[in-house]
Amino acid sequence: MSNALENLLTEDRVFVPSPDFAKTANAQPGIYEQAEEDWAGYWMNQALKRVSWFEEPQSALDDANPPFYKWFTGGRLNLSYNCLDRHLEKAADKVAYHWIGEPGDKRTITYRDLHRQVGQFANALKALGLKKGDTAALYMGMVPELPVAMLACARLGVVHSAVFGGFSSDALADRINDARSTVVITQDFAWRAGKEVALKANADIALERTPSVRNVVVLRRTGSPVAMQEGRDLWWDEAIAGQPDTCEPEQLDSEDPLYILYTSGTTGKPKGIVHTQAGYLTQVLTTHSQVFDLKPDTDIYWCAADIGWVTGHSYIVYGPLGNGATSLIYEGAPNFPDFDRLWQIIEEYKVNILYTAPTAIRSFMKWGDEYPQKHDLSSLRLLGSVGEPINPEAWMWYHRVIGGERCPVVDTWWQTETGAIMISPLPGITKTKPGSATRPLPGLSADVVDEDGNSVPLGGGGFLVLDRPWPSMARTIYGDPDRFEATYWSRFPGRYFPGDGAKRDTDGYFWLLGRVDDIMLVAGHNISTTEVESALVSHPSVAEAAVVGRKDEVTGQAIAAFVTLRGNVTGDDALLKELRDHVAATIGPIAKPKSIVFTPDLPKTRSGKIMRRLLRDISENRQLGDVTTLANESVVEDIAAMATAQTTED
Ligand code: ATP
Ligand code: MG
Repeated sequence: MSNALENLLTEDRVFVPSPDFAKTANAQPGIYEQAEEDWAGYWMNQALKRVSWFEEPQSALDDANPPFYKWFTGGRLNLSYNCLDRHLEKAADKVAYHWIGEPGDKRTITYRDLHRQVGQFANALKALGLKKGDTAALYMGMVPELPVAMLACARLGVVHSAVFGGFSSDALADRINDARSTVVITQDFAWRAGKEVALKANADIALERTPSVRNVVVLRRTGSPVAMQEGRDLWWDEAIAGQPDTCEPEQLDSEDPLYILYTSGTTGKPKGIVHTQAGYLTQVLTTHSQVFDLKPDTDIYWCAADIGWVTGHSYIVYGPLGNGATSLIYEGAPNFPDFDRLWQIIEEYKVNILYTAPTAIRSFMKWGDEYPQKHDLSSLRLLGSVGEPINPEAWMWYHRVIGGERCPVVDTWWQTETGAIMISPLPGITKTKPGSATRPLPGLSADVVDEDGNSVPLGGGGFLVLDRPWPSMARTIYGDPDRFEATYWSRFPGRYFPGDGAKRDTDGYFWLLGRVDDIMLVAGHNISTTEVESALVSHPSVAEAAVVGRKDEVTGQAIAAFVTLRGNVTGDDALLKELRDHVAATIGPIAKPKSIVFTPDLPKTRSGKIMRRLLRDISENRQLGDVTTLANESVVEDIAAMATAQTTED
């Protein structure tokens, strides 16, 4: 990006917290100012208040060796103790998870149950020789045994490396080898959209080239036959047989590693992000309570992400369990057996808090309002969004159709590397604007800068930076501290650069503009993909849109758009012209797409994010880059064929 980013889209709608919500909200006015007086002290207070310690830390932040910051040094704790043991006295019989299998089977797991299962599985891992500092790879679907395995690792100080169950055997092998995992925990098959996903068979292919692995523990989920390798593989049931169900938690150092998690690979080769114990837990517990306004005694909370992503780690496992919440886990696809599955579950369990992603919300919009409208969603009291910028239109739909215009919507910006939410409204305090993640949370700080690192005045756009360390920050890239420094800390020395563009409005609200790698340079103007996509999505016929800049002799780059239409709309020349005019009218002629291709789907990562670099490859007729983290590889070929068939001219 050479100049500041154009500020094209303006949004005037404002939503004020209702007085009832505000009155009882966990976070009350004044919290920002209090935190700002002494932000490190604020985090120390959160750590002392929210975490149970074997030994309390002596200091908040150790910044002696940036960017390798340490938090809460001298502290000793255990995260599985914080998620389980400490709730037993008062809440042993409280439900930790309501689990819903895709075929319709159900389980109810109390804190006492979970404590036993974790203790027993931790003993099983010990019996396999796992000890503090070892790494275990978890390659599973959305079954309760996945959090059990994570917490069993955490209990022993074993580092877990969860690999999303949708990944291929190649992706799994790379991640096992990079982390040098010695044990793999998987399952026979996982249910997905009525089909069995062959996790064990995939793992077997990966295991042909993973010399570090000694044992494989296999959970029986569907019961279909799988090959077991004598001496290496054992069933989960065999592993726990005869193991006692209590296991003393290791007293770990604040900075001992907790897990490695690979980023989703939207921009390139995945990075093994390392998180540690105390800072991570502190910020996850704080944000989970403040942002979702969690009332642990009464709320049914549902984060519909996959546990294999950071959102699941922080807001299905460590945050909710640490805070003593009752959560819901659903195993399968949102459109199985029909498009109303989520809404049916919300009605049945009287879910109060829902956290999902813009890509899911846009799918729900595409499927049609009749599915949520079939169900009573009046139990909902708060809605959250994460994963991509949420287009104002999708935000309004979520607010109106799912939230019944009654629920605050919290758009939460963060990433694998930040470990926890960074920029988000506080639902009882913040006036929200559709499409804005609003402001950094109390104790946190961010800025928008130009390419020389100077703060851009309000009203302008540029690079998002975090100009202060935070407790749940990534500590390094596993095995590659140089890449950690180079990727995040060298573009603007002393500040963390997440790779995203942003603008701020005159109220100081942040509007995330997508990755700076995706920003287009058209006739000397830097234009964000997010703004053009939001303009397209604001047309009633459009469900989803992705735009990229492709090389153009006249303008440097030209905007190429890929558009998925809603329900039963068909794309013809008239609509094409209408959409281009619509963009020109909404945000200006400069942003008018030069070409539009109608496609039934967009290339997405398995975490549901649009992969624009592949659309760029298609637009410029290049060989496709790395597609291993793609959810649907064939869609790119289809789009490429359609792009050649349809061309738009000015
Ligand atoms: P990789 O870094 O390997 O390309 P990734 O960035 O897709 O993978 P994640 O860490 O899961 O992997 O995604 C974080 C990114 O998602 C953020 O940097 C940002 O671009 C986007 N994002 C997440 N939440 C929001 C949000 N609320 N608003 C805007 N963008 C968001
Ligand atoms: Mg990223």
